[in-house]
Amino acid sequence: MTETLIEALERARGWLKAAGRVLVITGAGVSAESGIPTFRGGGAYWSGFSPNELSSVRGFDANPCLVWSWYEERRARVRSAEPNAAHRALAAYTTRADARILTQNVDGLHLRAARGLGTPSAANDPIEFHGSLFKVRCRRCHRPGPNPETIDASSRDTLPRCLRPHCRGLMRPDIVWFGEAIPEENRLLSIKLAREADVCLVIGTSLEVYPVADLPDQTRDTDGKVVEVNVFPVVRGTTNTAANLVGKAGDVVPELLAGLP
Ligand code: NAD
Ligand code: ZN
Repeated sequence: MTETLIEALERARGWLKAAGRVLVITGAGVSAESGIPTFRGGGAYWSGFSPNELSSVRGFDANPCLVWSWYEERRARVRSAEPNAAHRALAAYTTRADARILTQNVDGLHLRAARGLGTPSAANDPIEFHGSLFKVRCRRCHRPGPNPETIDASSRDTLPRCLRPHCRGLMRPDIVWFGEAIPEENRLLSIKLAREADVCLVIGTSLEVYPVADLPDQTRDTDGKVVEVNVFPVVRGTTNTAANLVGKAGDVVPELLAGLP
């Protein structure tokens, strides 16, 4: 007999109540109810260009104006979106529990939800594991720069450039592109957080992208539990190690976290 959502919620709440540390991993599904499309939900192609042409160093070097116009459109779309009930419930939870968010999303909505609570604490900021639409760095010297308010991608001359006088390289989105590795510091931090966590709460991700896909098993390898929130669950396991909460993040996450210390 399959477990009902209420039974799975009870089990997950019990684990979270008993947990010392919690790692929360999120993916595109947590932002779906904010109106931002998921990857596999369509929208991977833009004006006939493939993700590889839009999100790779090779694509950027070949046509930085094209890449920046795509990113500028995404930036505008996300700016006009709002964090949803799941982002808000998670932001509140991480201020009262020993819980850290690691997101694959580049939309900055977890950070905006945290700032919205008026309790900015950089030490507990969500880890933007794949970078952010609102951060830029130099293609040539790799140093970060200030985030431009708007980006005029009509020609190479109007694109943002590095402010260091001897560099003046083109700025690129500070996002982990195809073929690029996660910065080592963050990769090591993610493994440490997953192994130290008593519960790994996985929300709205297909777990198809590595190294994130391995993290829930790191928690289980060290005797932790995995709680998943997804409309189409992907985490497997017995009722001793996993709880699948089937539903929308905006409904299930606030319900799960309500009343938890
Ligand atoms: P994905 O598109 O592969 O998977 C999304 C998952 O969310 C699916 O398992 C789906 O069943 C689930 N889902 C959809 N709507 C949901 C809802 N309302 N509530 C709960 N679950 C829901 O996304 P991914 O696993 O994050 O991997 C895609 C990659 O694309 C990531 O690397 C990410 O950086 C990038 N991406 C980011 C954004 C963003 O920043 N918002 C959007 C699209 C893609
Ligand atoms: Zn530079």
